[in-house]
Amino acid sequence: MLKRETKDYINIDPLQTGGKLTKEAKEALLEWGDGYSICDFCQGRLDEIKKPPIHDFIHQTLPEFLGCDVARVTNGARESKFIVMHSLSLKKPNAYVILDGNAHYSSYVAAERANLKVAEVPNTGYPDFKIEAEKYAEVIEETKKKGEIVLSLLTYPDGNYGNLADAKKVAKICHEYDIPLLLNGAYAVGRMPVKMEKVGADFIVGSGHKSMAASGPIGVLGMKEDYAEIVLRKSEKYKNKEVELLGCTARGATIMTLIASFPHVRDRVEKWDEEVKKARWFASKMEELGIMQLGDKPHNHDLMFFHAENLYEISKRAKKGRFFLYRELKAKKIHGIKAGLTRYFKLSTYLVPKEDLRYVLDAFSEIIKKYS
Ligand SMILES: *Cc1c(COP(=O)(O)O)cnc(C)c1O
Repeated sequence: MLKRETKDYINIDPLQTGGKLTKEAKEALLEWGDGYSICDFCQGRLDEIKKPPIHDFIHQTLPEFLGCDVARVTNGARESKFIVMHSLSLKKPNAYVILDGNAHYSSYVAAERANLKVAEVPNTGYPDFKIEAEKYAEVIEETKKKGEIVLSLLTYPDGNYGNLADAKKVAKICHEYDIPLLLNGAYAVGRMPVKMEKVGADFIVGSGHKSMAASGPIGVLGMKEDYAEIVLRKSEKYKNKEVELLGCTARGATIMTLIASFPHVRDRVEKWDEEVKKARWFASKMEELGIMQLGDKPHNHDLMFFHAENLYEISKRAKKGRFFLYRELKAKKIHGIKAGLTRYFKLSTYLVPKEDLRYVLDAFSEIIKKYS
């Protein structure tokens, strides 16, 4: 048996708090674990499988949830981004994508793989690291002189600070220049209410294993009807296969865990206000310990970035150096702050019970006291 040591720890790793499986998804994982299990009744297109009910999920449930016209499942948020970038970059040798300065590395790598050049909208720097919508206009103006801009992207929220920029305004600005906007909601879709049409974006991307209680790897992609023709274009040789999806994406247990968790995910999004309240409470308690929360303030997301000068000072003289914090937290069965980080780190309070968060706060307090 391959054991997972951290399984019963309190988990505050932003990557993992929204990807924990529901009971239903765990059952689905066992039921559909065999390779290609969902293909029993496939007639050649994943999204048209009626039994299990993948067709209804992709063509009704998902577009409704994402607030888009057309949706697909992919193998991850990064695959979704690459699919869009690659489609829009075709036959455009000197094209650009505009990324916010807080974009995830996978947005850069996807652009690179799609042969797109990147222009960056800078953030405001320490301590807020905000992305200001107006800056998109400036960067678009500058970039236009160098080449064609095929896409803008906004990370909503970003994966470092958990900042939520004014996405509506960004969409409006991009559209003034006739540039489509992709909303990267890897940390939004499945956690908080977000709809592509409300934002006015042209594409929306989500991550099943990050924020939709799915085992994954699995992603979702929503788009406006206008873009389906190019992004979901069919193979010339295999008339029913969508080229960018390489014919078929999530082909097994991954999609079944996504579908199994979906009713729970749809419900939990409605309780987002409570999660924000809890995150703010946690941040205020951390600040009482001298650990400052950076980024949007008051904060609007469970993913938070902290600046702990006191822990950094301790690390300079602690026996294990900068690994002391990881070791101390591990001894208290708390998982989620990267080994070796003390001065700056991020964590997530998403769906972590308040009593567990109190335990985490007490742990920080005890660690600080122990070393002072
Ligand atoms: C985690 C993350 C991704 C990658 O998600 P995958 O589904 O694993 O590809 C992309 N963007 C952001 C902002 C993320 O936080």
